[in-house]
Amino acid sequence: MIIGIPKEILTGELRVSATPTTVKKMVNDGHQVLVEKNAGEGSFYHDKEYLEAGALIIDDVEELYQKAEIILKVKEPQFNQEKGLDEIEMMKEGQTLITFLHPASPNNHKMVLQLKEKGITALTLDGIPRISRAQTMDALSSMSTVAGYKGLLMAANGISKFMPMIGSAVGTIRPANVFVIGAGVAGLRAIATARGLGAQVFATDIREEARIEAQSLGAKIVELDIPKKVAVSKDGKHANSLPEKYLLKERAQIEETILKSDIVILAALVFGKKAPILVTEEMVKKMIPGSYIVDISIDQGGNCALTEAGITKVVDNVTINGTKNIPGTVPTSSTYMFSENIYNLVKYIIKDNAINLDLKDEIISSVLVTHNKKLLHRGTIEAMEE
Ligand code: NAD
Repeated sequence: MIIGIPKEILTGELRVSATPTTVKKMVNDGHQVLVEKNAGEGSFYHDKEYLEAGALIIDDVEELYQKAEIILKVKEPQFNQEKGLDEIEMMKEGQTLITFLHPASPNNHKMVLQLKEKGITALTLDGIPRISRAQTMDALSSMSTVAGYKGLLMAANGISKFMPMIGSAVGTIRPANVFVIGAGVAGLRAIATARGLGAQVFATDIREEARIEAQSLGAKIVELDIPKKVAVSKDGKHANSLPEKYLLKERAQIEETILKSDIVILAALVFGKKAPILVTEEMVKKMIPGSYIVDISIDQGGNCALTEAGITKVVDNVTINGTKNIPGTVPTSSTYMFSENIYNLVKYIIKDNAINLDLKDEIISSVLVTHNKKLLHRGTIEAMEE
C-alpha cells in the first residue's frame, strides 16, 4: 500500500509520525512510503536517512495526499497556511487517516463530521483499548510516559533548591519534597524520575492499584478515604469522576502534603471527562514560596484552579506551569515511541495488502471513528448527542 508521512503543521509541533526505522519496516512489509520533505527535521530524523530506509521524499504535500492510501499523522488535521487549504481538503475519498483525533471532544466535532462527509476512514490513537494485546500500539501511554518525565524535569529546573540530599562541609541540605497527584502512566514516570534525582516523593491516587505501584517506586503514600465503589469504574479499570462531597474530602486530605512540597505534579485524569480540580487558589496562596506546580492534566482542563493552558506564571511566589503538549518538547524520543506505536497499528489493520476493519475486533471498534461516510465511534456519537 502507499503510506504518506506529512510534516506536522501545528505551530511548534516538532514530532513526526515515522522514523527511518519504521519506514524501513513498512518498506520491508511491501509498502511504498512517501515522506514530505523535511518532515523529520524537528526531531532530528533527516531526509537522507528516510531515503536510505527506502522512502520517496515528496516536495509538495498536496501530491503526497493525492498519492497515499494511508496517511499517518501525530496531530489531527489542521489548516495549512502555506497552501491555504485544510489538510482534510487535501485528502481524498476512501483514504485512511491514523492519528490522535480526540473525536469525543466538542472542539473536534466539526472536524470529525468533515472527515465523515469526505469519506475518510479515520482511526484515532486515543481509542486504543487498555488491553495487553494492544500495548504496543498504545501511543497515549507512550506520550504520558514522556509527559511525566519531562514535567518533573521542568519542575526540578524551576525550583531554587537541590533535588537530592546534599552533604556539604557547611551542613546537610535536605532533599526537595515532590508530591505526585494521580499515579497513572504519567504520574508513575514522574515519581521514578524524581526518585532518580534523589528527591523525597509523596504520591496519591484514588485507585488503590495505582497507590501500590507508586509505593513500589519508592513514594510515600498519602492515603485517601474514598470507597472503592465511588473511586473506580465497575470494570475496575478506570477512575471515576468523584462527586463533589468526595472531592472536598480529597482536597482536605492532600492539603497538608501540598503545603510542605517544593514540587507538585498534577496528573489526575478521568477518562473522557474534565480533569478534577484538586489544588485550589487558597492552597496555592499557602504553598512554600518558590515551589513549583506542573499541571500535566492541562489538556483536559488541569487539576489546579489557577492553571492557564500554555502559560507558565507565578502566583504568590508559586510557579504554575501549564505547558501544553509536553511530549512535543522531547521530540526525538516522543517520535521514536509514537512511530513504533502507529506502525504496530498499521501492521495490525493491513491483511493481504488491504485494510481489514473487523468491527467485531475490540481494537478496531475502539479506534474506528469514520468509515464509508458513517460516524461509527460510540463515544463521539454520545458526545454529539449531548
Ligand atoms: P489516566 O491518565 O486516565 O489518569 C491518571 C491517573 O489519575 C489514574 O491513575 C487515575 O486513577 C488518577 N485519578 C483520577 N481522578 C483522581 C483524583 N480525583 N485524585 C487522584 N487521582 C485521580 O490513567 P492512565 O495513566 O492512562 O492509566 C490508568 C491505568 O490503566 C493505570 O493503572 C495503567 O497502568 C493502566 N494502563 C493499562 C494499559 C494496558 O493494559 N494496555 C495501558 C495503559 C494504562
